[in-house]
Amino acid sequence: MDLHEQSISDLSAGLHAGELSSVELTQHMLQRIKAHDGKLNSFISVTEEQALAQARAADERIAAAEAGPLTGIPIAHKDIFCTQGVRTSCGSRMLAGFVSPYDATVVTRLRQAGAVMLGKTNMDEFAMGSSNETSHFGPVHNPWDTGTVPGGSSGGSASAVAARLCVAATGTDTGGSIRQPAALTGITGLKPTYGRCSRWGMIAFASSLDQAGPMTRSAADAALMLTGMAGFDERDSTSSPRPVDDYAAALGNDVRGLRIGIVSEFMGEGLDAGVAASVESAIAELRKLGAELVDISLPNASLSVPAYYVVAPAECSSNLARFDGVRYGHRCAEPKNLEDLYKRSRSEGFGPEVQRRIMIGTYVLSAGYYDAYYLKAQKVRQLIADDFCKAFESCDLIVSPTAPGTAFRLGEKADDPVSMYLQDIYTIAVNLAGLPGISIPAPLSGGMPVGLQLIGNYFDEARLLNVAHQLQLVTDWHQQAPTVSV
Ligand code: GLN
Repeated sequence: MDLHEQSISDLSAGLHAGELSSVELTQHMLQRIKAHDGKLNSFISVTEEQALAQARAADERIAAAEAGPLTGIPIAHKDIFCTQGVRTSCGSRMLAGFVSPYDATVVTRLRQAGAVMLGKTNMDEFAMGSSNETSHFGPVHNPWDTGTVPGGSSGGSASAVAARLCVAATGTDTGGSIRQPAALTGITGLKPTYGRCSRWGMIAFASSLDQAGPMTRSAADAALMLTGMAGFDERDSTSSPRPVDDYAAALGNDVRGLRIGIVSEFMGEGLDAGVAASVESAIAELRKLGAELVDISLPNASLSVPAYYVVAPAECSSNLARFDGVRYGHRCAEPKNLEDLYKRSRSEGFGPEVQRRIMIGTYVLSAGYYDAYYLKAQKVRQLIADDFCKAFESCDLIVSPTAPGTAFRLGEKADDPVSMYLQDIYTIAVNLAGLPGISIPAPLSGGMPVGLQLIGNYFDEARLLNVAHQLQLVTDWHQQAPTVSV
């Protein structure tokens, strides 16, 4: 099998057996990026020299028998993670020239595990978007059909993993940004429980929702990546002190008798018929494995998109206030006075979607509107979390589609923010509640990938990964590849 088709554990076995070196593997992937990324634009920066140096170090560790399962494996980081000495742009003109003086905790952990960083992936500006069209560095193309979007905001990571330009990648998910692009590109993407992975050094969008997670070609790879990323960090006060489970060891569990909840509200209106059929056949496969299906209801889920579009902009308007051309970020030329400096630096540095969010956020937080919008949205958020708690009394896990359709054409929704926001209709409630969710490939619809979402109870990542893995053992939907990769 071609190197770029192999799983992390196969590659790791090859590295440990001395059948291949990390330098060879890294060169192979760098070569693929050169050959294919011109069509995809999935990378903002390719760090060839550092990658080869890290690969040499990994080979030494392997030779010294000091290596783990990620040692020598070439991965990419979403450009929202600070990486020391490497440009960290967050997809924005505001940070186009920013070279971080330190690494994000997730980056440090993966580096310490021996993973090799190939570069930084493209993304929607400040992670705001569902199509990767808001990036200052141009749109990312979906390798399944380069006229379509890869989803967003982690569209670069999704496209790069789907096209086999890196073995795995990191992403972040505030309302769906790992799961929706994973669905649209036919890969596996996991958003962990809020607090499972450190947010330190991850440029903040909406701090109470943001969470880092792995984007891979299989659940088994995701288990290894999450092991490398997760854990308490004293530098993030919201990171959980709970010990990290052994995700790889949990992959052998039986699915028989597992109660899987189907969200009645998510299977009706607004869902594309082809996606519905694909999701139904994936659910049928779970039943064949011995899972028991139960109908559940999330009565307040229809309020999740409106609640999110109050809470997330509110937090973003506060988080992005620091980019003022003085402390951080782009500074306009020849400012006339301080106000002119702020205004022009921010107008030039931020694109239209980010400006829209800042305006909405500032509005909903202003005196007189705070109670009407922000406080109300926070109450709705609690109701949504309560709905999930209740649902988990009658099931162990919840399934739904990840996104309402397959990848749409570039430009198709660019002038229609509401239709773009509805891309996350099945994912956002999970962020509002802080729960873990994973998207895995279901059968193709019209030749394009479809995502099946599995939602777990708090810190139930091991179970999510296992169920996804069991399904991937008996199906080959996750192995289908876009033609660009062959
Ligand atoms: N698409 C959603 C938004 O634009 C979610 C983005 C994300 O998860 N980062 O806000």
